[in-house]
Parts: sequence; structure tokens; C-alpha cells
Amino acid sequence: MLFDDQASLHREASITDPLTGLFNRRFFYEQATSVISQANRQDYNLSLMICDLDLFKQVNDSHGHMAGDKVIVAFADLLNASKRQEDILARFGGEEFVLLLPNTTLEGAKRLAERFREAAENSEVIYEGKPIRITASFGVTICNPPSVDNSIRQADEALYKAKALGRNRVVAFVPQQ
Ligand code: GH3
Ligand code: MG
Ligand code: MG
Repeated sequence: MLFDDQASLHREASITDPLTGLFNRRFFYEQATSVISQANRQDYNLSLMICDLDLFKQVNDSHGHMAGDKVIVAFADLLNASKRQEDILARFGGEEFVLLLPNTTLEGAKRLAERFREAAENSEVIYEGKPIRITASFGVTICNPPSVDNSIRQADEALYKAKALGRNRVVAFVPQQ
């Protein structure tokens, strides 16, 4: 029994990001690979979203690293509270998150990202009595062709555009004709 508990503890530690409690990047790849490999080539109902906090270095610089950590956790909680049960959410890197969205068209993914964007913009994290405001940028894509690496590359390209266009916005990946 004790060994079972320890084994599950180890399993949990290996798939979880310690700061936010979300899945880690490695486990996301594992899960996403499994979901995407089952997707049909003509399936336009599987989307992927990447989001990244805007000008986050300034949060650390102005309020300190501990405050930054609290903001990352608050944003992770916000995403986690609004995602649907079947969505797979993970912390992808420092202040960057990724969601795989089954049964979701590109339009649906854009709407969901817009909801997250608004929620972030309207949120406030209080650290040592001081309010910290944040915004986030979002890149979304349909997982077509069905490959994790490709979908991440496409969503990342859209995210990069969202940053270049001034941040605090949602951009969808459009394939070149
Ligand atoms: P942009 O809008 O272009 O994304 O600007 P940015 O400042 O957010 O860009 P960048 O990705 O260069 O900076 C991210 C910063 O996040 C850098 C790093 O110090 C900080 N960071 C990464 N992980 C953590 C963490 O776990 N905790 C804290 N407090 N900061 C972190
Ligand atoms: Mg950032
Ligand atoms: Mg970043």
C-alpha cells in the first residue's frame, strides 16, 4: 500500500509542474501525441492554443520574482477554471501555457482564447498589498496536419504575430496558399 502511494506520488511528480500544479511540457507532449495520432486528416475539430503573458519581465523587475510566481499561478488557475474537462492544459515554459482542445473548430478556439484574454485583462493579483495587472497574447491553430510539433509551430507563429501586433490579442494561424 505504502509502495503504491509512493509510486503514484512519483508518477504525479513526473507529470506535474510544481509551481502551478498543471501538467508539465513532457506530459503534454505524451498526451497530445496520443490524441492527435487518433485524429483524422480531415478532422477540423481539434485545435491547439499557446498563450504567453505580456511583458512579464517587467512584473519581475517591478515587483520581484515571488510576485511573478504568484502571477503565473493566478493565470494558470484562471485557465484551469475556464477550460473544459476534455481540454488538456499544461505549463509549457516560464510564463507560457498550451492547451489541446478536442472537438473545437478554429472559430471555437478563437472564442475560447478571447474569453481567457478578457479574463486576464480584468484580473488583478494583489502582492504585498499592491495590485498587479496583466495581459496575455494567444496563438491558435487547427491541428491539421495532425502532428504535435507542427501544431505547436503554427500556434507559436500566430502567437509571435499577436506579440508583434501589440500584444493582448488573439491571432489564428493561417496557412500560406
Ligand atoms: P513578451 O510580451 O514579449 O512575452 O515579453 P516578456 O517580458 O514576457 O518576454 P520574455 O519571454 O522574454 O520574458 C519572460 C520572463 O519570464 C523571463 C523570465 O525571467 C520570467 N520567468 C520565467 N519563468 C519564471 C518563473 O517561474 N517565475 C518568475 N517569477 N518569472 C519567470
Ligand atoms: Mg511573455
Ligand atoms: Mg515567454
